[in-house]
Amino acid sequence: MTSRPVLNRRLAEFGTTIFAEMSALALTTGSINLGQGFPDTDGPEEIREAAVRALRDGRGNQYPPGPGVPELRTAVAAHQERFYGLGYDPDREVLVTAGATEAIAASLLALVEPGDEVIALEPYYDSYAASIAMAGGTRVPVTLRPHEGSFRLDLDELRDAVTPRTRLLLVNTPHNPTGTVLTRAELAEIAKLAVERDLLVVTDEVYEHLVFDDAEHLPLATFPGMRERTVSIGSAGKTFSFTGWKVGWVTSTAELVTAVRSAKQFLTYVASGPFQYAVADALRMPDSYFEEFRADMRAKRDLLAGGLEQAGFKVFRSAGTYFITTDIRPLSESDGFAFCRSLPERAGVVAIPNAVFYDHREHGAPFVRFAFCKRTGVLEEAASRLKTLAP
Ligand code: PMP
Ligand code: GLN
Repeated sequence: MTSRPVLNRRLAEFGTTIFAEMSALALTTGSINLGQGFPDTDGPEEIREAAVRALRDGRGNQYPPGPGVPELRTAVAAHQERFYGLGYDPDREVLVTAGATEAIAASLLALVEPGDEVIALEPYYDSYAASIAMAGGTRVPVTLRPHEGSFRLDLDELRDAVTPRTRLLLVNTPHNPTGTVLTRAELAEIAKLAVERDLLVVTDEVYEHLVFDDAEHLPLATFPGMRERTVSIGSAGKTFSFTGWKVGWVTSTAELVTAVRSAKQFLTYVASGPFQYAVADALRMPDSYFEEFRADMRAKRDLLAGGLEQAGFKVFRSAGTYFITTDIRPLSESDGFAFCRSLPERAGVVAIPNAVFYDHREHGAPFVRFAFCKRTGVLEEAASRLKTLAP
């Protein structure tokens, strides 16, 4: 062993991810895991069978092409056209990645120079901070704040955060962990700012099909001047309930896709061969699949939101994603970390303290995230256990 710390300075602040820590806690305590966001049932049977078929037929068992199998790149382009009217050339403007996680990391590694500032909406998904750090960038959080029952972006604050050193905006909508879906007006302002200040934009749209009520998912790439500066990221994990397959994708201009591929080829090179064929089939499923999936998830959201309210939490409106953010102060609690560490023992449920998604942890201290992508019976049981907390 050397006397110097073995983990380099860029990564020293990142311990084990909160998701691993909390899922382990759920296992050891036998608690219901509403922490890490993964469904407890698999996606469509025919898509699972498509993966089995690809594997048996020897499709994708050896290294697939670096940019992804043509079938999947074509299906991604067709999906972007079908849902958003965005046209991409499958050969030059689509890249398949090992989940959205690799797409985010590769985008930042490719596009950020050491010392560049990267603006991210806080609370932010934990891999953003680590990926910005690995790229040598400086993260500049812009905090979403509670406003009339949901977390909102202050556009003036965003504008003020841009400096001559800002290279890139990293935007996540639908937003994990708050469930906020940015509106057309908010996105139009973000787009205007990006064009005015000549910024690149990376958009994490993994929850694109999980928007509820009257919320609408609008990709930033559809706004004027944005297609040429936006790297859009999607993932099969959330849309098709196969989070373990790790199939994601990037769509952008040929120049930006080539840049992202330059980094991606030295991370995994390629991944998930047979699954790529199955996801190509999944992306072509009829509208009814997407509608039913959304309706099902919306009912789960309502079930859990009701349970959390009955248990005494303040529940923020979740317009999208798998998640509900709550405020624990009505339960006479103020420290989300301590609350989540004690929740398995007190109620047999695991949740995530939102503070981990903040640079300014004090802003996130009283907020706790619950995932509702679970079977109805599991959510009912969780709700009944949580009721024991009611003051
Ligand atoms: N972005 C967000 C906002 C997420 O919640 C997640 C986690 N599921 C990811 C990216 C990572 O997606 P993937 O599993 O496809 O790598
Ligand atoms: N995206 C998932 C969540 O927010 C976790 C994925 C992971 O464990 N990296 O819960």
